[in-house]
Amino acid sequence: MTKDYYKILEISEFSTQEEIKSAYRRLARKWHPDVAGNTDDVISMFKSINEAYEILSDKSRKTDYDKARKFYNYARSNNTKNMNTESKTTNPNSKRENPEPEVNNKKRGFSFNWEEFLSRKHAQNELNKEKKNAPQKGADIHTNVEISVFEAINGTTKVINMLQTQLCPKCAGRKFINGQTCHHCNGKGEVSNYKKFSVKIPAGIKNNSKIRLSGEGEKGINGGASGDMYLTVIIIEPKNYKTEGLNILKTVQITPYDAVLGCDIKLATLQGNVSLKIAPNTRNGQKIRLNGCGIESASGTGDMIVTAEIQIPEQISAEEAALYRQLKELNANKSK
Ligand SMILES: [Zn+2]
Repeated sequence: MTKDYYKILEISEFSTQEEIKSAYRRLARKWHPDVAGNTDDVISMFKSINEAYEILSDKSRKTDYDKARKFYNYARSNNTKNMNTESKTTNPNSKRENPEPEVNNKKRGFSFNWEEFLSRKHAQNELNKEKKNAPQKGADIHTNVEISVFEAINGTTKVINMLQTQLCPKCAGRKFINGQTCHHCNGKGEVSNYKKFSVKIPAGIKNNSKIRLSGEGEKGINGGASGDMYLTVIIIEPKNYKTEGLNILKTVQITPYDAVLGCDIKLATLQGNVSLKIAPNTRNGQKIRLNGCGIESASGTGDMIVTAEIQIPEQISAEEAALYRQLKELNANKSK
């Protein structure tokens, strides 16, 4: 015979946890064998009350039970249409009067052994709990670290401030301790902390290289190993020049008359400001090498290679135009 835990606790299926608790307390006192007498019936009732409370006070077991009960009630209500009363089917005399065994079998086909279902479900939950408690490796963390070309060539040490999230060490992610909200994580179950890393980036590293920091990922769960941290190294190319190995490639713009007459240009290099001499009659695209003005490294220092780019003025004044015409005429006479 199926036990209806709600009936046992004399409550409705819509009762709150508070009502379930108080019903249990009242009935447990009433049916305690010390009070009600140490008879088999009392002990059986007392056991049922405890069983009912054990199931109904556990949220997940209650949900399972409610589903099973609903299904059972549904199956039973469907069956009662096909049969008389339950007492009749159990009455051995009725067998002769009606083809009850058949109905009885049918009933059995409908009957749902929810007690077995619940114990199976409970076993499954325990197994899942065990799985939950199994050690799990923490997640890997991926992040970028930006370095300059100079740092890429020479190697560097970068300090990285990383936000790490881990299960709350006080409540182990359960959010509550003895029914109270965990103060350590404010009931979030996890805590985030900044952790500083000093990462050595080797000389000559290529753009998009990955550096693995073993065990610096998220903390493992239930004693599982921590994940790893992967740093992707991004080499930031400078805006106003390019690099080629240890050499720095730079373009300077000069006017047509500076190209013809020559000039001095102030140029910033890694070693400081230098004066670059543009020789007279410099062609467009001509390259000028500044020795030792490139990137310094253990294996030597590169050069700066400057490309002269002659800029034709976009707009000129009437006076300038007159002077260009004069130049043109001079040139025409020269070739005569
Ligand atoms: Zn906590």
